Amino acid sequence: MSEVRVRFAPSPTGFLHIGGARTALFNWLYARSHGGKFFLRIEDTDRSRSTDEAIFAIIDGLSWLGIDWDQWERGQSDPVRQTERFEIYRKKVFELLDRGLAYRCYCTAEALETRRKEALSQGKVPRYDGRCKDLANSIIGKDHAIRFAAASSGAIIVDDMVKGRVTFEADVMDDLIILRSDGTPTYNFCVVVDDVDMRITHVIRGDDHLNNTPRQIGLYKAFGYAIPEFGHVSMILGSDKTRLSKRHGATAIQQYRDEGYLPEAMINYLVRLGWSHKDQEIFSVKELIDTFSMGHVGTSPAMFNPEKLLWINAHYIKTGDPRRIAELLFSHLQRAGVDIAKIDLNAVEQVVTALRERSRTLGEMAESAAYFFMDEIVLDEKAQAVLLEPATLPTLKYVLEVLASVEFEHDLLAEALKAVCVKLGQKLSQVAQPIRVAVTGKTVSPGIFDVLIILGKEKSLARLSRQIERMDGGQGHVATRPFVPTGGGN
Ligand code: GLU
Repeated sequence: MSEVRVRFAPSPTGFLHIGGARTALFNWLYARSHGGKFFLRIEDTDRSRSTDEAIFAIIDGLSWLGIDWDQWERGQSDPVRQTERFEIYRKKVFELLDRGLAYRCYCTAEALETRRKEALSQGKVPRYDGRCKDLANSIIGKDHAIRFAAASSGAIIVDDMVKGRVTFEADVMDDLIILRSDGTPTYNFCVVVDDVDMRITHVIRGDDHLNNTPRQIGLYKAFGYAIPEFGHVSMILGSDKTRLSKRHGATAIQQYRDEGYLPEAMINYLVRLGWSHKDQEIFSVKELIDTFSMGHVGTSPAMFNPEKLLWINAHYIKTGDPRRIAELLFSHLQRAGVDIAKIDLNAVEQVVTALRERSRTLGEMAESAAYFFMDEIVLDEKAQAVLLEPATLPTLKYVLEVLASVEFEHDLLAEALKAVCVKLGQKLSQVAQPIRVAVTGKTVSPGIFDVLIILGKEKSLARLSRQIERMDGGQGHVATRPFVPTGGGN
């Protein structure tokens, strides 16, 4: 088999969407699993809708996902932009014209519109009637478009890698405009010229392009190019079975990055939108390259399920290298209000280890970790309620006194708090909760010993005494005042 050459050809009109990223991923995996080439081609011929910002978003999103592309060997800029190739398209149009495979069309837009309406009113499918085909191509000096002379009989059969056999009757095909009267080449024409020049062997794309395929096949044939294999992948649907859109939540890849999804989780999730391998759910990229095949891409539309994405992300957070996750957490901590200039990677890594079992995204992790790094903690509502309980103040005072003379190591802290429990006649949970509230501002956190150790002795004691002072109405440094326990024990 000759070298596999595939491409991802987004139109840069918005952000990199879930669907586009999946198309890119399937192409990339197909290339990488066959030792082939994967190209990125920016289809920006529609200048009114294409933006540089969108091109940047595509490149940024793919790079974040780890989807790399190959340099097109003809030395074109990388990625290839169609707007840089207009002269090439025009040359190809005139080549077809010289070979009698295209013709000039002098019909005005108004005339075409009138005929279209006429056909519709007669219940016919509007299509160009070919009236300019037999005019001499040599007529000049008048506005004209150039049309491709499509075959008018026979059928075009596509053995699609996903859909199976699809048959298109030639008589439904129009003579496609390939060059507009303003001199700009049209979409289907540019796609084929590029696919031919890039020697594309497999076209894997969304099935919204299925109807373009017979038109494009006519053009590949005109160029004498071996028709690529096609794989038209079904759309992605939202939970209400309509096409995935913003109504169903975030659809832009970058938004997931910003919320704290890991790229490996995203890749794993995206590939399962349509592809399966036995009943396996978790795949490393290497496993994907080893097992991916277009034969296992399903024919029915995939359903986007945000809960499953969260589940996969939680898996990768739990099992990933804590140091790397710590590095990724910095930007999320910053967003959660932490001054990241003041914190060090080791401390963040400790926090990751303490929180990774309970965080589904890095955003969530940062929210529940911010208190480790803030100068001032903010008490949430439930935490405030704990502080109002009568036992809290005396407990905190006693804890502060005891902890002041303890080294902050797991066993020593456990021993010290056990002694506090005995003395106060309380359970560990009753003692731990006021401490947790005073040092984190929340009623939920990792184990209290872990929290105290990560915070360190100095910070922990400072937070405890600040809280006591507040509750006590600011009467001096409470740690030095005598304390008489209120209940039980001895
Ligand atoms: N530019 C098209 C799109 O963004 C893709 C065309 C193709 O893959 O052939 O949907």
